[in-house]
Amino acid sequence: MPPDILPVACGRRAGFKLEKLKRYTTKDAEETYLVPHWAAGFFRVGEDGQLEVTPQGPGGPSASLYEIVQDLRDEGRPLPVMLRFPQILEARVEALNEAFRRAMRKYDFQGGYQGLFPVKVNQRRLVVETVARAGKPYAYGLEAGSKAELALILAQDLHPEAIIACNGFKDDDFIRLALMGRKLGRNVIITLEKFAELSRVIRIAAELGVEPQIGIRYKLKAKGSGQWEESGGESAKFGFTTPEIIRAIDILANAGMLGTIAMLHAHIGSQVTDIRRIKQAVREIAQTYVQLRKLGAPVRYLNLGGGLAVDYDGSKTAFYASANYTLPEYAEDLVYVTKEICDGHGEPHPTLVTESGRAVTAYHSVLVLEVVDTIRPAGEEKIELPQDAHPVVQDMFELAKSISAKNYREVYHDAYANKDTIQNLYDLGLISLRDRAVAEALFYQIARKTLKLALELDYPADELEDLQKMLADKLVCNFSLFQSLPDTWAIKQLFPIMPLSRLNERPTREATLVDITCDSDGKIDRFIDLHDVRNTLPVHEIRPGEPYYLGVFLTGAYQDVLGMSHNLFGRIGEAHVVVDEDGYKIERFITGEKARRVIEKMGYEEGELAEAVEKLVRSSRKLNPAEKGAFMELYARELVGYTYLEE
Ligand SMILES: *Cc1c(COP(=O)(O)O)cnc(C)c1O
Repeated sequence: MPPDILPVACGRRAGFKLEKLKRYTTKDAEETYLVPHWAAGFFRVGEDGQLEVTPQGPGGPSASLYEIVQDLRDEGRPLPVMLRFPQILEARVEALNEAFRRAMRKYDFQGGYQGLFPVKVNQRRLVVETVARAGKPYAYGLEAGSKAELALILAQDLHPEAIIACNGFKDDDFIRLALMGRKLGRNVIITLEKFAELSRVIRIAAELGVEPQIGIRYKLKAKGSGQWEESGGESAKFGFTTPEIIRAIDILANAGMLGTIAMLHAHIGSQVTDIRRIKQAVREIAQTYVQLRKLGAPVRYLNLGGGLAVDYDGSKTAFYASANYTLPEYAEDLVYVTKEICDGHGEPHPTLVTESGRAVTAYHSVLVLEVVDTIRPAGEEKIELPQDAHPVVQDMFELAKSISAKNYREVYHDAYANKDTIQNLYDLGLISLRDRAVAEALFYQIARKTLKLALELDYPADELEDLQKMLADKLVCNFSLFQSLPDTWAIKQLFPIMPLSRLNERPTREATLVDITCDSDGKIDRFIDLHDVRNTLPVHEIRPGEPYYLGVFLTGAYQDVLGMSHNLFGRIGEAHVVVDEDGYKIERFITGEKARRVIEKMGYEEGELAEAVEKLVRSSRKLNPAEKGAFMELYARELVGYTYLEE
């Protein structure tokens, strides 16, 4: 079936034409790419049509991303590159902590707030160190989910009262490490994820002679919303059921250790898009806090886990790429609901803890890709009809000539039918490759005219999606989706994507993106939209000799650490950029992985490879000495080169 086109036009034709004649401004670009909707005040379109970063918020100093990238190129740094803005991380840590301070003041909340950054969201050194530094005045802590994460956390410079929480499944060494941290004066809390961990902690604490601080993870009945709905609820992987909590209390009471229960923890999943789900979960966990205190457990910290969502598409809805609430609302709801429940039972207000990872790190990094090639669908060139063309091809030619606003629907449907016929004839050997090629180009030409006419007649663009997708350019970008945007592939995550320059020119093409892996999944054909998902991205006609960069935004959570070396494309280079009144400064550049590193991770030895290749070259009778030398030099260079396309 051909993609359906509505039979009636809406008749706003004149308006559409006028629109097209108007000059395209930077304001228009902000709307095309929805910048004010997703940028949280960190990005905007500058007067000169270049995208700007304002790491200290809209009132602070700015820098052009395009210029930063050009500077990196002048330094000889290859693309793709990750730009990191540590000031954005600082701003997010402050925003989170200040939101809770304000909420506590507003509701006269007598407890406190001490957030945790779960390092699994991004363990990169710059991220953890910056978050630790910015969080120190707030006694903001860190959360480990494994021994290795705890090892790096114990070395961080934190406020003495900052919590270090140990989540995740634990073996004896994990618990020893945590208890030693406590002996060293750190505020370490061991969160028990499952019942069997309790006896382990009691045993090792006795061995080491350390009084542990215990957190209990509670299995919420309430579920989140969005992608990670199943992280909460009864089928969740982690957490104590209510009978297990009662048993744990009894065991600890018998051991004279009831006083070690410091924290109650729950996590309803990541990217919870609907505030009602969050409120429901808070109610449940706050009631459990009250109940635990009534049973004599002196719980001080009430930990509501992660889930604070990032509005990737800017739509402010409960759509999976969005959130129907803001950070201040989140903080206020947590504070208010907890206060209300505690007051109702005459229990003291706890110190609230949250483990927001995504919301803290997502904004700070921008992936920059360069478009290296454009693949266009056929039919844009002038098409000649071969003299002895098959009658069906001739018919196609006539259709292409005759298309108009009056008949384009019939013409398109006829062309679609012809295309099928030609395919059948080709399979039977009744039509030549040349004829088929002409027919295909004609079909695309008809489809393009159909789309143009339908748009002029003012069909809403989303009803013409299939046609738009079929006719879109494919921009080949020098990167690997699997290394740099794994969630796009794994869970269909949406990220804002847009050009970094020419934002005062009307984008005249629609495109999808493909990466340079040889995996056909290495593509992006879903883009943000306020109402739905867009299948194509508006882009400019690429000018030869002028670089065209695309920025992928809000990539600072999870993408940095989930990336994989599919096709042996390695970790990309990263630049740390600071912006102040005097302009911007590239503080540090960390080079991307060289081919050698990536190959060695697969179990090869560089020396052995080089030796085997040299042996092959030396035994060749076809290569002369100069060729042998050139080949070995090329091979050695590839082993140490960047894994992506270089000029
Ligand atoms: C992953 C995780 C988080 C982080 O969740 P975000 O949605 O990124 O804030 C917090 N707590 C726990 C227990 C987690 O597993």
